[in-house]
Amino acid sequence: MILQDTKRLVIKVGSALLIDNTSHEIKDNWIETLCADIADLKRDGVEIVIVSSGAIGAGRSVLKQGTKTLRLEEKQAAAAAGQIRLTNIWQEKFVAHEIVLAQILLTPSDTEQRRRHLNARNTIETLLGLGSIPIINENDTVTTEEIRFGDNDRLAARVAQMIIADTLVLLSDIDGLYTADPRKDSTAEFIDEVSEITPDIKNMASEAAPGNSSGGMVTKLAAAEIATRAGCQVIIADGRPKHSLARLGLEGRFTRFIPIETSSNARKRWIAGAVSHAGVLTIDEGAVKALGTGGSLLPAGINNVEGSFERGDTVIVSDLKGKRLGCGICAYSAADVRMIAGRKSGDIEELLGYQGRDEIIHRDDLVLED
Ligand code: GLU
Repeated sequence: MILQDTKRLVIKVGSALLIDNTSHEIKDNWIETLCADIADLKRDGVEIVIVSSGAIGAGRSVLKQGTKTLRLEEKQAAAAAGQIRLTNIWQEKFVAHEIVLAQILLTPSDTEQRRRHLNARNTIETLLGLGSIPIINENDTVTTEEIRFGDNDRLAARVAQMIIADTLVLLSDIDGLYTADPRKDSTAEFIDEVSEITPDIKNMASEAAPGNSSGGMVTKLAAAEIATRAGCQVIIADGRPKHSLARLGLEGRFTRFIPIETSSNARKRWIAGAVSHAGVLTIDEGAVKALGTGGSLLPAGINNVEGSFERGDTVIVSDLKGKRLGCGICAYSAADVRMIAGRKSGDIEELLGYQGRDEIIHRDDLVLED
């Protein structure tokens, strides 16, 4: 499955999928199947952020605004009424999976200004750390045309960049990128992989079809550009069939944009930039050598454990003389590392009563200092 190596995922769900074009009602059953797919991924350890559109579309129906073009203040009113309804439905579906949903409404300044960006990032990180799923939309009630993203494709890309996600999935009403708009041109050919977003690629994109969509392929490519530059792979896939997330890579096709830097580099930059560390692992000479040749940190090499930390926390790694060698994400809690320190990976299950990873810090999760 295409998402098998994904650790942190942003899923953007477009209005066209969430709101029925004729009745303007929120597609309750469709959301339910997506939530089931998301819950499965979360159980597999993937951290997930949802960027959900649909507030304005849902508000139109709640406020009985019909299909006319809305003025700014009418759109803002629609978003206010629709957002609460939309989040309620998402929340209701996740309750069945015992998942806590947390709503965040952002304006462009929250992603573009450093201080606010850091604030938003910390909140999302904290929510992920607490095991919840942040659900994000643009704060459409306070944004005006000049200062809004206007489309959630780019918002989702900025969020993916902000939290160093390794995958951004844009679920849409089209299965991916074509050489031309397949709705208008029958010779349009499907493109399953894009390694570089060249001007030729951009020329292939068309604007959104009428209805509830905002962005079309133009903003999807802009989003892909932002995210791939941040080391995040981007997948555009057809979200219309039920369980489209679970089907991804198994059935149907999709377009994948290859990240410009590898996600592990981006992840490593993020690990290296950690502002605080929850503990220190002191390692023996054999382990120092193993790390120096690109190996992972195994329990056998741990000499001492300081601090109190949980699985997934960033810890410092030092040698026996106390020299700091680097830092990394620990796959076990401090209490568990103390139990398995100095022992073979094969003994982990017997010592802890469960079979965790063989490595205390996997080499992908480790950054050594020069
Ligand atoms: N933020 C808008 C809404 O929730 C949607 C933007 C988009 O569809 O990309 O209605």
